[in-house]
Amino acid sequence: MATNSHKRVLLKLSGEQLAGKFEGGIDADLGAWLAQEIKKVVDNGVQVVIMVGGGNFARGAQLAGHGIKRVTADHIGMLATMMNALALTDIFESQGIRTRCLSSIFAEQVAEPFIHRLADKHLEKGRVVIVAGGIGRPYLTTDTAAVSLALELGCGVVLKATKVAGVYNKDPSKFDDAQKIDSMSFQQAVSDDSIKVMDKAAMGLAMEHELPIVVFDAMEADNILKAAQGDSAGTTIS
Ligand code: UDP
Repeated sequence: MATNSHKRVLLKLSGEQLAGKFEGGIDADLGAWLAQEIKKVVDNGVQVVIMVGGGNFARGAQLAGHGIKRVTADHIGMLATMMNALALTDIFESQGIRTRCLSSIFAEQVAEPFIHRLADKHLEKGRVVIVAGGIGRPYLTTDTAAVSLALELGCGVVLKATKVAGVYNKDPSKFDDAQKIDSMSFQQAVSDDSIKVMDKAAMGLAMEHELPIVVFDAMEADNILKAAQGDSAGTTIS
């Protein structure tokens, strides 16, 4: 294990990320590739807990309206994260990674319940834990759920996987001269409205508890390992 390495990390994977080459649903090839990237982290002795999003299937805020209550829409969003968590669990196991899916919503036939001690035990045994259903309550996103879970499980860092290399001074998809920022303060991240990489509630919770967030490109080989080992990959918000 590298000297700066964290003992335990939380990786946040969004639904959009899991859709890969598709517009929605799950790109299983990409899931298998991610599994191999995460295996490198586990093989280095770092415990990995994963919070999955559901935006490739449903997002509560977008679904609400036309008769669908916001609370119901968020329930549907949480079920979307469940689909991703179940698929990833199987894909990870098929790639030789011992993995458990724990659910924050009642789903006895489908997954083990999220219980703090159970999650802790799986992680201590070197199993990857994938959490479904966010934090189990509406009006939240899996970004906020990720920070909350990382605090609960004593993770050293939240690794927020994106499709870009980190936080930029302007939108890299629109401006050729956009520059990546290597590190920034929570204060900056919360107050600057142009920074939309994570929702403000998530950022605020991380700031209050001084839990660093690394925003990085998970699609580049070895980047998850680097970020987990505390090496500079992406943008560190602390
Ligand atoms: N959600 C929720 N409570 C949680 C986590 C998620 O209600 O603790 C719902 C919410 O509707 C959200 C959806 O699940 O929009 C999917 O999660 P998210 O939008 O964070 O997915 P991502 O954008 O990361 O793919």
